[in-house]
Amino acid sequence: MKEENYWLGTTAIPRSDPSRALPASVDVAVIGSGVTGLSAARVLGKRGVRTAVLEAKTFGWGASSRNGGMVLTGMKLPVPTLILRYGRERVQRMYAASLASIDCVEQIVREESIECDFGRCGHLEVACKPAHFDGYAKSAELVEKEFNHKLRIVPKVSLREEIGSDIYHGGLVDELSAGLNPARYVCGLATAAERAGAAMFDHTPVTGVERIGQNDKRFRVSTLKGSLTARELLIATGAYTTDATPALQRKIIPIGSYIIASEVLSDSVAHELSPKNRMIYDSKHFLYYYRLAPDRRMLFGGRAAFFPENENTVRESAEILRRGMIHVFPLLRNVKVEFAWGGTLDFAFDVMPHTGRSAGMYYAVGYAGHGVAIGTYLGTKIAGVICGEPNDIPFDGIPFPTPPFGLRSGHTWALPLAGAYYKFLDWVS
Ligand SMILES: Cc1cc2nc3c(=O)[nH]c(=O)nc-3n(C[C@H](O)[C@H](O)[C@H](O)COP(=O)(O)OP(=O)(O)OC[C@H]3O[C@@H](n4cnc5c(N)ncnc54)[C@H](O)[C@@H]3O)c2cc1C
Repeated sequence: MKEENYWLGTTAIPRSDPSRALPASVDVAVIGSGVTGLSAARVLGKRGVRTAVLEAKTFGWGASSRNGGMVLTGMKLPVPTLILRYGRERVQRMYAASLASIDCVEQIVREESIECDFGRCGHLEVACKPAHFDGYAKSAELVEKEFNHKLRIVPKVSLREEIGSDIYHGGLVDELSAGLNPARYVCGLATAAERAGAAMFDHTPVTGVERIGQNDKRFRVSTLKGSLTARELLIATGAYTTDATPALQRKIIPIGSYIIASEVLSDSVAHELSPKNRMIYDSKHFLYYYRLAPDRRMLFGGRAAFFPENENTVRESAEILRRGMIHVFPLLRNVKVEFAWGGTLDFAFDVMPHTGRSAGMYYAVGYAGHGVAIGTYLGTKIAGVICGEPNDIPFDGIPFPTPPFGLRSGHTWALPLAGAYYKFLDWVS
């Protein structure tokens, strides 16, 4: 088994010219080159805004090249919780944004001819307990009533039409969701941003940002390759946010997520496991998510360990995930696991995406494992706002709580407690 990201072997990451010097000044500096930063840079470049993308590692290095490639509708929290918290009107706009985000990805893929195996295969949520399945009927009814969006209930007797497993109690399908190859997608976005005119800098960690002065509202952005000034800043650093932007770093809880990829399966086995090639996840807090890769490997992921990835957590997680995969699909008992890797999710304490401005800097973070579509959408929308469009982003300005000490970035000693808590919730609910 290789401890590496399977997706990276399917593409070549674009590189920036190492001899290119940073410009002295730009209109907008984008920190971070995941789907958020790159989709913003693409729009800014197209509109003639002088933009620099500053990436600490290689383009797309963060969660955006390592994820499950599930382009999902909806949000992490149940709709009733959302309505209680934010009111019906705002939640309708949030849900509409989640649906629009799938179209946004599709449109970019088409306009930029990104070969990333984008397909509207739909997603399937599977119920781990009878009570979870009972909740699906209410959920589907509410989503149709509030958002005019149809979800389809799949009773246990029909579940074999959707998935080659007998352990679940039913399912819920959303046909609007899609799947893609995330590494190819983020590489395509980087190429598109550069083609649009953004100046691209990889291996350029930002070490600090500050206002130039009281009367000069521009920012000075310091990097390991020198500094530049920028009229506006977009922080798009997700779970990998550093103390270069400490106020934002304090808001983010970094949580590990891991994926294994099986050897290539035969057509018939692949079809038996996932006859409709859905993006699938289960109903637990400590959930499993899985799908077939375009070359018919089973990609099986989950928060096997709560800590962000390192050599040990990847190895331990691979074994936990292999056991999980076999529990779901006994047919894969003798199948080899060829790849295992991990990445880090950016959770806000309230499990919501957040956009806004902090000390004048734009940010978009907090996707909680649900960021491929919404990150692309929010990056695109924030670029519009920077260009003077009205700000109708429904996540903008909602309260953004700071997690209690011990859960924020860099202080991960409390994560096993959080993990145990979520396992407990799965046991009792
Ligand atoms: C294993 C895994 C599976 C997932 N599966 C799915 C899925 O199937 N569907 C889904 O919707 N979401 C999924 N997610 C979540 C999704 O990948 C993320 O929400 C999304 O990619 C975040 O994008 P981003 O652009 O905000 O940040 P990232 O892609 O994380 O990019 C942030 C970048 O900022 C850079 N950076 C950080 N600090 C600095 C600095 N100081 N200077 C310069 N650069 C800096 C980092 O190097 C990094 O490349 C998954 C995540 C993981 C880890």
